Amino acid sequence: MRSRLVAGNWKMHGSLAANQRLLDGLKSGLKASDGAQYTVCVPYPYLSQAQSCLSGTPIAWGAQNLSEHAQGAFTGEVSGAMLRDFGCRHVLVGHSERRALYGETDKQVAAKFQAAQGAGLIPILCVGESLQERESGVTEIVVGRQLAAVLDSSGVGALVNAVIAYEPVWAIGTGRTATPQQAQAVHAFIRGVVGRQDAKLAAGLSILYGGSVKAGNAKELFAMPDIDGGLIGGAALVVEDFVAICDAARSA
Ligand code: PEP
Repeated sequence: MRSRLVAGNWKMHGSLAANQRLLDGLKSGLKASDGAQYTVCVPYPYLSQAQSCLSGTPIAWGAQNLSEHAQGAFTGEVSGAMLRDFGCRHVLVGHSERRALYGETDKQVAAKFQAAQGAGLIPILCVGESLQERESGVTEIVVGRQLAAVLDSSGVGALVNAVIAYEPVWAIGTGRTATPQQAQAVHAFIRGVVGRQDAKLAAGLSILYGGSVKAGNAKELFAMPDIDGGLIGGAALVVEDFVAICDAARSA
């Protein structure tokens, strides 16, 4: 059985006080379960806070980005080893906001994926098409290309210690969710691409859906056969919403 994961992406939100309330709420709302795992990807300055609040709880933590370099003169960058120093388990790689706003290329994303694994982190590789690409009928071409960049540089075996998140760009932060059928179709495509190289690995690969997942739509999304949890933005900042989404993942 594939493991289910619900990952919160806090983006550039939070403060020490607000985070404390959120983390305390998650600690009391989320219990250890065989059914699902939880993680929160927080801004770098709050990694230490996440580490001290969440150590010993069933909730893991991680970051939203990392450098493709191990160390050196890269002002403003943060390495995978630094994230491990703060107990991070996961790191987002290739989030569409990084690709669109900071010009991250498929090649750079593939290098970051490799750097994450090299540091002992589990990369959550984000892939997804823009609205224009969907409307032009090239969703599979775009997602296939983003995936191929990582498969070509790291090899299919690297996906054993990775998670993929399908996030249609047009659904992120827009309140417009992909229908369960639209999401399922792309998840099945992703599993198929990986499966052509390694069927057993593909069958065990966790593929999350991200894009305006809310307490009200999580259950029907997570009920789809190839959707193994979610990457959650806005709703990850509200205790009740994130807990409800995690409940939906557990009971799916
Ligand atoms: C995200 O940030 O990855 C995301 C899916 O955001 P939202 O849930 O707000 O659409």
